[in-house]
Amino acid sequence: MVKESHELLRRRMVANQIRSRGIRDERLLAAMADIPRHRFLPPHLADRAYDDGPLPIGEGQTISQPFIVAQMTEALKLTGEEKVLEIGTGSGYQTAILCRLAREVVTVERVFSLCVRAKELLGELGVENVRFRVGDGTMGVPEAAPFDRIIVTAAAPEVPPPLFEQLAEGGIMVIPLGGRWEQEMVRVRKEGGMAKKDFLGGCRFVPLIGQCGFTD
Ligand code: SAM
Repeated sequence: MVKESHELLRRRMVANQIRSRGIRDERLLAAMADIPRHRFLPPHLADRAYDDGPLPIGEGQTISQPFIVAQMTEALKLTGEEKVLEIGTGSGYQTAILCRLAREVVTVERVFSLCVRAKELLGELGVENVRFRVGDGTMGVPEAAPFDRIIVTAAAPEVPPPLFEQLAEGGIMVIPLGGRWEQEMVRVRKEGGMAKKDFLGGCRFVPLIGQCGFTD
């Protein structure tokens, strides 16, 4: 009974918040209709998991609004062949979507307890093509580079140079850039070693804290 109502809420979320706002990637829409977002929330917020906004996940952090997850993921143009680096595991919801749509995912979180919880949950959901790291994601994961795609789910003052270095030639990075309180979603393509940027609209993220990010 509970499961049915979550399924219904999920279908409505995809129709009313995602498809209606222009997201057209059918693999992404199918993943969002299937992945149980309510499992990624603290139990007392599970029934709000399909609301049209971000929600707290503990440790002062948030799970992003469903549309923002969709917008960032679509901007990555995943075909299923890519090695993806995600910075900011958070609840692990975005990670689960990336794992459906790409070949493999390396995800980095600076808060140990969030990493542990996300790792346990993705294990329970049977997700296998993911490696978890705890640390400062602004430095990337040099030993696993290059990455075909990089997604940063926290706000950065600029593209962290180690992340651009670890992006493969022809690769795509999606990252919110700007100040601590307001940012612009930016898609960066690496072409001939240079960054080509498109601006995808305004957004608000928690800060990326680290050596090449904001200070704590
Ligand atoms: N995508 C996540 C989800 O689906 O739940 C939401 C991510 S939340 C908006 C941003 C996350 O980035 C937080 O969990 C925060 O702890 C993490 N973070 C901030 N700075 C970081 C850094 N330098 N390295 C790794 N993670 C970082």
